[in-house]
Amino acid sequence: MTKRSAQAKKLLEQRQILAAELPPFAEIVRGSLVTRYRRCGKATCHCRRGPGHGPAHYLVVTLKAGKTEQILLSEEMLPVARQFLNNYKRWWTALEKVSAVNRRLLRLRVASRKIDAEPGRRG
Ligand SMILES: [Zn+2]
Repeated sequence: MTKRSAQAKKLLEQRQILAAELPPFAEIVRGSLVTRYRRCGKATCHCRRGPGHGPAHYLVVTLKAGKTEQILLSEEMLPVARQFLNNYKRWWTALEKVSAVNRRLLRLRVASRKIDAEPGRRG
């Protein structure tokens, strides 16, 4: 195996591992979690002195400059939203890593999924 094909093989393996570790694409969401405590405004309510009513959890997403969407999350949806946000980050990180691997493969002029010019390999 030449040095070039050894490098290519290693990069292709890295890329395969990155692809295999990805969470389901359908289970992603962009945004951030925000926790709020609300004051109801009643003069006699305990929230006047304490931290307020809550916590209430929101998914906050910036859609464009100055425009955000906020979704009040139920207790059941909070861990779902956390998971989706985490998945989104993992996809984003993987995109950058695979992109870096592919830049190196392009430099090595390896286009296909497998190394073509390697004897004794099937597929
Ligand atoms: Zn209150």
